[in-house]
Amino acid sequence: MLKHEPPVELPEGYVDFFKALESWQNEEVIKHRKLYTPAKHDLKQIITSQKNPLLTQVKPQIDADMLKDLYTRLLDFLLEQRPEIQEVIKNISSQIDQMDFDKISASFIQSDMEYFENLAVQMNVSYDLLFFSIDHAIRPLLRIFAEPYSQDLSDDLFYWEFPAICPVCGSKSHICRLNAGDGQRFMFCDRCFTEWHVRYLYCVYCGNDQAKDIYYLNVENDDAYKLFLCNKCKGYLKTYDGRSLGKSTDLFIANIESVYLDMLAQEKGYTNHDND
Ligand SMILES: [Zn+2]
Ligand SMILES: [Zn+2]
Repeated sequence: MLKHEPPVELPEGYVDFFKALESWQNEEVIKHRKLYTPAKHDLKQIITSQKNPLLTQVKPQIDADMLKDLYTRLLDFLLEQRPEIQEVIKNISSQIDQMDFDKISASFIQSDMEYFENLAVQMNVSYDLLFFSIDHAIRPLLRIFAEPYSQDLSDDLFYWEFPAICPVCGSKSHICRLNAGDGQRFMFCDRCFTEWHVRYLYCVYCGNDQAKDIYYLNVENDDAYKLFLCNKCKGYLKTYDGRSLGKSTDLFIANIESVYLDMLAQEKGYTNHDND
């Protein structure tokens, strides 16, 4: 049993900021469903034959003006929410007409980080902030891109070689949930909101499915969260247990609120394999 005392308090307003960001994103998703209508592909066939996430293989076209609009609104949102960094945001805004949004979306889809590193230097902005802002401006479109596959991915026969990685957008997942009703286990991608089925006793990092090497660790005074631990690769995965409260939750926020679980797991010598 783990003690449920966050070893470090989250900064004030941290969770609220992400809640506001998610609301902004939800509104943009609704707005863009009519404007952005990507083709549906044969997901299973494509990801099993090439062993790569769908997005990097089908390279959807993202309209440069649409992305520029989204980016402009995201900067406005950041300006309103984070006045303490307004100088930096205004610096980005003043250069927005020089930004090549065709290149930006293509580089993002190809995970060409070098492009963003160079762009950050060129614009005299920190790489982290620049990438964060571009990433979050594209997310509403990624969520729409991912929507047609939810059925295929929730199938309990769904299989994908790299279950810790989102099969749609290729982002690393850091949280899974257990279904309120039947206890089925789903990974969650906080970038495109995709969920995909994985077995209950199965390590998403190393494939270990030996019950003797797998633990679900409970957190004191908290029925909602558990840590999945694998003693073979020392991997951990945060788990929201929908069975305990009998309801689902917002996993985007759950992932952020449960940063203390990452700290607890890492203190015990487990890793999310992010830096492998
Ligand atoms: Zn994803
Ligand atoms: Zn493992």
